[in-house]
Amino acid sequence: MYNAACTLLQCSRLLYPSIRFVSFPTKHYLSKTNEFRSIRYGTTLAYTKLNKAIGISTMKSTKDIAALLDEPACEHNKKEKSGCAKPKPGASAGGCAFDGAQIALLPIADVAHIVHGPIACAGSSWDNRGTRSSGADLYRIGMTTDLTEQDIVMGRSEKRLFHAIKQAIDTYAPPAVFIYNTCVPALVGDDINAVCKSAQERWGVPVVPIDSAGFYGTKNLGNRIAGDAMVKYVIGTRDPDPLPLNAAHSGIKVHDVNLVGEYNIAGEFWHVLPLLDELGLRVLCTLSGDARFREVQTMHKAEVNMMVCSKAMVNVARKLQQQYGTPWFEGSFYGITDTSQALRDFAKTLNDDDLTERTEALIQREETRVRKELEPWKVRLKGKRVLLFTGGVKSWSVISALQDLGMVVVATGTKKSTEEDKARIRELMGEDTVMIDDGSPRALLKIVHDYKADILIAGGRNMYTALKAKVPFLDINQEREFGYEGYQGMLELVRQLALTIESPVWEAVRAPAPWKNKSSQIPPSPPLLKGGSSMVEAA
Ligand code: SF4
Repeated sequence: MYNAACTLLQCSRLLYPSIRFVSFPTKHYLSKTNEFRSIRYGTTLAYTKLNKAIGISTMKSTKDIAALLDEPACEHNKKEKSGCAKPKPGASAGGCAFDGAQIALLPIADVAHIVHGPIACAGSSWDNRGTRSSGADLYRIGMTTDLTEQDIVMGRSEKRLFHAIKQAIDTYAPPAVFIYNTCVPALVGDDINAVCKSAQERWGVPVVPIDSAGFYGTKNLGNRIAGDAMVKYVIGTRDPDPLPLNAAHSGIKVHDVNLVGEYNIAGEFWHVLPLLDELGLRVLCTLSGDARFREVQTMHKAEVNMMVCSKAMVNVARKLQQQYGTPWFEGSFYGITDTSQALRDFAKTLNDDDLTERTEALIQREETRVRKELEPWKVRLKGKRVLLFTGGVKSWSVISALQDLGMVVVATGTKKSTEEDKARIRELMGEDTVMIDDGSPRALLKIVHDYKADILIAGGRNMYTALKAKVPFLDINQEREFGYEGYQGMLELVRQLALTIESPVWEAVRAPAPWKNKSSQIPPSPPLLKGGSSMVEAA
């Protein structure tokens, strides 16, 4: 039933004086019988006002977004270079809010993640992190409502979403479905909350709306939107399973903990998990690497939360503290020093003397083992000069890991670092440290040349810059194939560093090309006659 015109006219008449620009978004509602009826609004402004008037909230308001941007748990919240600062016109902004929201939640492996929007949005984010799952792999199936112009013009987008949810549930029987809103359906005013609610009632499966239209802001804002949705719709909806009898450690008190912002890239968290297990720390959930929906539901029962990345989803830790009184601390598992510190912080925050004692014993055992195994590698890497170009927590935590190896970090990238990250960098490298904001190939290569760096450690996008300049390169970002967390990860990092720097390929590619060597110069080809045949052939 398509009754657009009358509503459009009524709305236009009603709100005509305040019309600023004209667009023709189409809005649908699910009736009680799940039939779709459409209403066409005159303007975006009219649509917002009308929704307000009839008590429907379909899109995040400016106030909602401002609240997400204003994150009191960020020490740099009021500073100019906040983690969620608005992108400046003309500056590259990285991913959009949708990208950030999906990156943050996609590692929840057993959930059906449906991108509601044109198919290109799904392509923007799918599988662009090397996050690993120990079992379920539904997260690796890209699902989208694949909206076309026809769907928008004919007002079918909500209907497509409803059927997409049905298809995902019928085909894969997931424990939950996450719906990511993108720019187009947000602009046309799709009420994804109503569709999710209706689908949930119809099929009895949790359907969670993630209102993350790309134009709301940056990738970091998207991370917060994702965290906000988890706190609002998922966390606190189930209690953890009782401890299995055979998992009880004799005489050890088991504590429940969460990790927030841990993505299990290349399976690196599995280097750390056995240590936590040995200490009697049961991980209820890692939001979101290798997580399951049922684990996210239980996060409110943890005794302590560890924030693994300083920017992503810090709002989750803060809200869990506000709502459930769960204390949290920030830490990193990159490098020996930081891994030991994170384990100590668990014991300190849990205030358990026995745990503290066992933690110190474990740290001593592991540090002794790893330092012994690192010795032969350290000899090979000592004094090698590194240009590190990464962002966020890695901009300082990897420095600590490299310094553990006796390497010299000549400069570090701070383009995506917060004021707090920078303070930590200064702490590690001194006040005169070189911080680079300009990540252009020319600027990076200049630093490599000026500071005589032996290797560039950066994200995948800088790989070809380095390789074309014949500079050894190691990928440190999410696309990497190797996990570097924990003591064991340190051994992997040192192995990759040595293999990269010492690869014989650099000597080969830096040597003059054989055809530039006079002794092996190839004689010039004989001149061509008319018609293309050579003089030799013509004779
Ligand atoms: S900016 Fe909008 S259209 Fe582009 S990928 Fe993000 S959500 Fe999709």
